[in-house]
Amino acid sequence: MDGIQSALLPEVLDALSDPVIMVDGRKVVTFANAASLLAWPALTRGTPLSFTLRAPDLIEAIDDVLARKATVSRGTMTERQPVERFFEFQAVGLSPSANASPRTAPAAVLVFRDLTEARRLESMRVDFVANASHELRTPLASLLGFIETLQGPARNDPHAQSRFLDIMREQGRRMARLIDDLLSLSRVEMSEHRRPVDKVDFGALIRQVVDTLGPVAEERQVSFKLALPDQALYVIADHDELMRVAENLIENGIKYGQTGKQLDVSLKVHDQNSEQPCECHLRVQDYGPGIPSEHLPRLTERFYRVDASASRETGGTGLGLAIVKHIVNRHRGRLMIESELGSGSTFHVYLPLHGIK
Ligand code: ADP
Repeated sequence: MDGIQSALLPEVLDALSDPVIMVDGRKVVTFANAASLLAWPALTRGTPLSFTLRAPDLIEAIDDVLARKATVSRGTMTERQPVERFFEFQAVGLSPSANASPRTAPAAVLVFRDLTEARRLESMRVDFVANASHELRTPLASLLGFIETLQGPARNDPHAQSRFLDIMREQGRRMARLIDDLLSLSRVEMSEHRRPVDKVDFGALIRQVVDTLGPVAEERQVSFKLALPDQALYVIADHDELMRVAENLIENGIKYGQTGKQLDVSLKVHDQNSEQPCECHLRVQDYGPGIPSEHLPRLTERFYRVDASASRETGGTGLGLAIVKHIVNRHRGRLMIESELGSGSTFHVYLPLHGIK
């Protein structure tokens, strides 16, 4: 490397997104790139590395390369404070230059990779598979149990047979709903980077959903209070996905807000502000028991339920709001949830408008 290029080296190292630190023979920091200062703001040139990074495996790896037991030493380190972070590191011994002091010249370079996000995703994936299997296993175990009973003790009992078959049908339906929701979720996730292309009248779509859910609301003695625009309100959307959003939110409002007896569904153009692109705003408000605030941030996680048995009793899979969130993201919109215990919950969906006719 010529002189000009080596003078640029600190800038080049600062351009890397991974932390890079150099230490001398005493393990004192001689250089820390921008990414490492971002990861560990307390790092200071001229102070021992162990003042900031107290990871025994890292120190041992540096000792190994300084003692020339190895030219490269790799390892991992976990930090607990201030937040849990997980790094993979590599310590590489540097060859001493002829006229530099062996104690103060850079003697080892440390390169880190922050694997916190990758770990988090991996643990989410593992949790998801465990949750999905658990959700399927419960109705499956019940089905198998009833089949054995029908083949054994209830073989000649037509009354018990008909009762058990009813339960079995319900368990089968539950599994089918779960599989449908899992497939929808994976379809939406796969297409999330592709913008929808159809021009859809959002108001007409909501009217259609309200009509379809009319009997469910009637059964639970919930009445709708609608405020929908008379004129068409177009959004660029995937028609079926948008139906799914409206269905999920309105059905949840009926199911969980039943005690409030009324469900407000409104659609309007959101406050027009010249800096903001025009948006439309769907609002679904119930007057049920509401949701404790500590649950609000997690409601859109897969299988997250405030009350798992209440959700299952009403045929819920715990995936509805996760699907809603992904669909809204795909439409470049926003989902907001507000709730006050005892007063009910309001779900807001904002979507970019295509145009008003
Ligand atoms: P589920 O299939 O369980 O209905 P969702 O993802 O649609 O799954 O909702 C997740 C959880 O959020 C529900 O189990 C319920 O606890 C809570 N929830 C959703 N909507 C409401 C609402 N309108 N009022 C109170 N709780 C709600």
